[in-house]
Amino acid sequence: MKEIVVISGKGGCGKTSVTAGLAYVGSPDIVIGDADVDAADMHLLMAPENTNAEDFYSGKLAVVEQKQCVLCRKCISHCYFDAIAINDGRLEINPLDCEGCGLCTHICPTNALRMETQKAGVLYVSTSRTGAPMVHAKLDIGADNSGKLVTKVRNTSRAIAEQKGKSIILTDGPPGIGCPVIAALSGASLVLIVTEPTTAGYHDMLRVHDLVKKMNVQMALVLNKAGLNADFEQKIHEFAKNHDIIDLGELPYDPIFSKSISEGLTIPEMDNEDLKQRFNSIWKDLMALSQ
Ligand code: SF4
Ligand code: SF4
Repeated sequence: MKEIVVISGKGGCGKTSVTAGLAYVGSPDIVIGDADVDAADMHLLMAPENTNAEDFYSGKLAVVEQKQCVLCRKCISHCYFDAIAINDGRLEINPLDCEGCGLCTHICPTNALRMETQKAGVLYVSTSRTGAPMVHAKLDIGADNSGKLVTKVRNTSRAIAEQKGKSIILTDGPPGIGCPVIAALSGASLVLIVTEPTTAGYHDMLRVHDLVKKMNVQMALVLNKAGLNADFEQKIHEFAKNHDIIDLGELPYDPIFSKSISEGLTIPEMDNEDLKQRFNSIWKDLMALSQ
C-alpha cells in the first residue's frame, strides 16, 4: 500500500486545491484522507456522503465532585496552571487552563477530584462524491492533541484501504512543520510538497524539506501559482534539483483556483484543458513514483 501525503510549509499555497484535484483524477481507486484536522476543508470540494461519525477522545481534565469538596483550597494553591477557582461557593475548573497533569487529584484530602478523558473531536468515514472512500476529522475548538487525531485519520485510512482493496491513500496533510505534520508523515511512502514562488513559500519549503529529510521519506514537489515571481520559481526548481526532490512541474497562478472553491469543484473539473492535463500528468508521475 502506498501513502502519498501532500504538505506545504505554510497555509495558502493551494495545498488543498492540489490534493483535491489529484483526488478527483485518482478516484475512485484511492482512499482520500484529510489530516488537516485543525482546519479541515477537503469536504468542501469532495462533498462526502454516507458519513459515519465517531467521537474522538483524547487528553484528560480534572473534574470535581462538589458534594465531596470541603473548599479547603489545597488544590488551588498547588495547581501550576491557575486552572482552579472558587466561584459562588463552588469549586470550578477552567477546562481551557487545565493541562491534565493530575496533581490536584493527589493533593485533595477528600478525593473530590478525578481525571476524566475528554472528547476532542470527531472522526468521519464517508464516501466522497467521486466515489472514493474518504476519512476526515474535525478537532473541537480549543482542543489540543491534533497529532493524535491525525494519527487516527491515517490509521483509519489504512484500515479502510485494506478492507476495500485500495492500494493508494492520498492525504491532505496539515500545514507547517509541527507535531500534526510529523504525525501525518510517519510511515508515508511519498511526500508531495506544494509551494509557491514567494519569499514565505520558498523559506517554508526549505523548512519542510529539512523535516521530511530527517524522516527519510521520498519527496516530490509541485510549484503552484507559477508566473508570480520568476526569480523564486528558478530558486525553487534549482533547490529541488540539488536536493533529491522529484520536480513534478508547475501549476500556473490562475483565478480559476478561487472560482473552483466557490463552486465546490476541483480544478480538473473546471473548463480549462491545460490545467486538466497538468493534473493528469502530475497524478501519472505520482503513480509511477509509487510503484
Ligand atoms: S489536573 Fe493539573 S492543571 Fe488540571 S486542575 Fe489539576 S493540577 Fe491544575
Ligand atoms: S483540595 Fe479537594 S476539598 Fe480542597 S478545595 Fe480542592 S477539591 Fe475541594
